[in-house]
Amino acid sequence: MASIAEQAIIVSRFQEYLRINTVQPNPNYMEAVQFIFREAHLIGLQAESIEFVAAKPIVLLKWTGSDESLPAILLNSHIDVVSFEEDNWDRPPLGAEIDGEGKIYAKGTQDMKSVGMQYLEAIRMLKASGFNPLRSVYVLFVPDHEHGGTDGVRMFVQSEKFMSLNIAVVLDKGLPSPTESYRVFNGERVPWFLEIQAVGQAGHDAKLYDNSAMENLTKSIECIMRYRASLVDELKAGFMKEGHVVSVNMVYLNAGTLQPAEQPTQAVAGFAIRLPPFADSDELRRRILKEWAPATRNMSFQLSRADEGIAREKLVTATDDSNPWWGLLQNAVKQAGGVTSGPEIFPASTNSWFFRKAGLPAIGFSPISNTPSLRHDNNEVLSPLQILHFIVVEHPSVLLIMWWIITSQEQFLTPHLTFLQYLSRSEYLKGIDMYVSILMAYTLHA
Ligand SMILES: [Zn+2]
Repeated sequence: MASIAEQAIIVSRFQEYLRINTVQPNPNYMEAVQFIFREAHLIGLQAESIEFVAAKPIVLLKWTGSDESLPAILLNSHIDVVSFEEDNWDRPPLGAEIDGEGKIYAKGTQDMKSVGMQYLEAIRMLKASGFNPLRSVYVLFVPDHEHGGTDGVRMFVQSEKFMSLNIAVVLDKGLPSPTESYRVFNGERVPWFLEIQAVGQAGHDAKLYDNSAMENLTKSIECIMRYRASLVDELKAGFMKEGHVVSVNMVYLNAGTLQPAEQPTQAVAGFAIRLPPFADSDELRRRILKEWAPATRNMSFQLSRADEGIAREKLVTATDDSNPWWGLLQNAVKQAGGVTSGPEIFPASTNSWFFRKAGLPAIGFSPISNTPSLRHDNNEVLSPLQILHFIVVEHPSVLLIMWWIITSQEQFLTPHLTFLQYLSRSEYLKGIDMYVSILMAYTLHA
């Protein structure tokens, strides 16, 4: 445990990293890289910057172990944070202000500048104590995560550089936990993207056709929304964690024009779907074929699946005896005075996906307990006025369908305040202790 004076310095380093503007879509990676290089130099780690895509640097640090023949530990974090609209906040999102209770407010406090800095602080403490690792440790800071990770981790994992590292296990982000116990993740939901198309007869807007494109599409949307409602009920009942339930969300609608008012011959809707790795994907495909886009109703569809051609066992990291890293992490957290729950499936996408796909065990863990998850809270909750503007000014053609959706989704009608993500000083410091314990267990594991 660090002294009061040391704690203040540790927290001020975290604040400094938070204040670097790495907000998408124009993150200042160069400033972040300079900061990480400076810290690596002070701690005494080898550092290099690799660019697979221009101006999107990956920083790789190395703490060399005494037995380099043993596969190494990889600690991953992403440098960028999600975008925000300044006006929505009561505190500056890059201010890293600390309130009277010790809460630090900034984008990245939870997702995931905290984790990146905690890795470094843990290594700094271990080095200062004279600890010598048996296995080497790599610390990876990657760009582009909040843009899908294609120009960051994906490129890195495919590189010869990565092959040469000989990695045994990867740690990446998890989610904050509202309770005492830390959440630990061994898989993530698989993104599917579905576009359904309806066709029908063109004609005057006054005519009551049967089987029009709009009618056909609306039937499908109703059907999908009923299925969605059943998923929401499952979640609300509280028996299932978010990552263990399928999610379906309509993300666009495209049909018709207001002038001239004709019934369109084509109507299209797009849906983002996330599937737990153990979900019955054949059942969902059948649903799409028979109910959501049946050829009998002049419907067709395009489905793209992120898990196309990937073996099921590569989507989930083992938590049994075949994977020693799982048990080592639980024990190490326990020894440092923490508790873990899980294993859980991460509801969205993390960089672990790319590592698991490459055949490595990857564990999602952000040591943040007793904290509500506010990672992407921003303007994702719309006010009624914003919705009205969206429909009337930008998309008059979808007025009716949009109205139907909005009135059927009660949460859209309630305005919300948005809260800036925060992390308390004590949680941050406690998290460093967790990594100290994990790193000792991992690097000494023979
Ligand atoms: Zn994120």
